[in-house]
Amino acid sequence: MDPKTLPFDPEAMLEGLRAWVECESPTFDAPAVNRMMDIASRNLILAGARIERIAGRMGFGDCVRATFPHPTPNLPGILVMGHLDTVHPIGTLDGGLAFRRDGNRAWGPGILDMKGGNYLALEAIRLLFRAGVPTRLPITVLFTSDEEVGSPSTRDLIEAEAARHKYVLVPEPARADGGVVTGRYAIARFNLEATGRPSHAGSRPGDGRSAIREMARKLIEIEDMTTEDCTFSVGVIHGGQWVNCVTTVCTGEALSMAKRQEDLDRAVERMLALRASSNDVQFKVTRGVTRPVWEPDAKCMALYEVAKEIAHDLGYHINPQSSGGGSDGNFTGAMGIPTLDGLGVAGAGAHTLDEHIQIDSLAYRGHLMAGLLARLE
Ligand SMILES: [Zn+2]
Repeated sequence: MDPKTLPFDPEAMLEGLRAWVECESPTFDAPAVNRMMDIASRNLILAGARIERIAGRMGFGDCVRATFPHPTPNLPGILVMGHLDTVHPIGTLDGGLAFRRDGNRAWGPGILDMKGGNYLALEAIRLLFRAGVPTRLPITVLFTSDEEVGSPSTRDLIEAEAARHKYVLVPEPARADGGVVTGRYAIARFNLEATGRPSHAGSRPGDGRSAIREMARKLIEIEDMTTEDCTFSVGVIHGGQWVNCVTTVCTGEALSMAKRQEDLDRAVERMLALRASSNDVQFKVTRGVTRPVWEPDAKCMALYEVAKEIAHDLGYHINPQSSGGGSDGNFTGAMGIPTLDGLGVAGAGAHTLDEHIQIDSLAYRGHLMAGLLARLE
């Protein structure tokens, strides 16, 4: 099958994708994520899938698993895996990131990370079925609800589903040079809590011990632990309610990232060993979700080689890259299941108000996805 013959229409795809992008779905808003799952479920069913809805837990939204008809449905097949949550809060559409297009670019919350990629994967499956092109392996699609917070409620589901499959394809955004992802760094998240002593900030400031001040000290200490091998950053701080009170509780979240598992393991030890800077305040670090390092093995690189050949026939080149940002590909790659990530759309500005895609990539990356689905055996 020559994937070039499949009639991907980027304009029609953009219209369909627009409906997905205009359904805002921030991770922390389960009803919003569920509305997005409703839309995706309908599109999956229209494409010929049988879907199962998996109820959310831990306060997160539902997941959707879709299976497509196949003569040998129980054969370990291809899992297409993507998240439908985004980092953009409700109101982003009206607050600086409305859906809009300009030439070959289109903007919107989550359009790049990763609704665009999920949409093109679904379109690839739909067109293969419509053209009557048989895939050698059965295809399952799994859309999840909490990737942007490290997948605390879906990791078990992802790992169980991946274990039943031979390959995992992840349409997260393409690399800046159009490359695909064949490995991802290890990532750990931490919860931070500083506790001080209350006092009236105006009349008796000397009696209090500020939790915010302690957090500020620790923030510098944590970020200064960054080396070539391992990064440390504090991305969330909450503290204080009244300016006339010495604040007694300040919480935060930190992230550490390393190319090698042993460096991340050491980072975890260092973080958990942090202590308060004096006896009259407390500082506590607890471990949050982690993503294991995914280092490509021979089977993963063989999968990349298939993709490279398909891309070559389509007239472009894709480099294999390891990526700093984590994804659910970390889990399946670390399990040793051949995983190819970064198969989604080209664009830039993920997680910002400039998030956009290159519209034509909906088609040429769609061709690549379709080629993989048809050829993998
Ligand atoms: Zn993503």
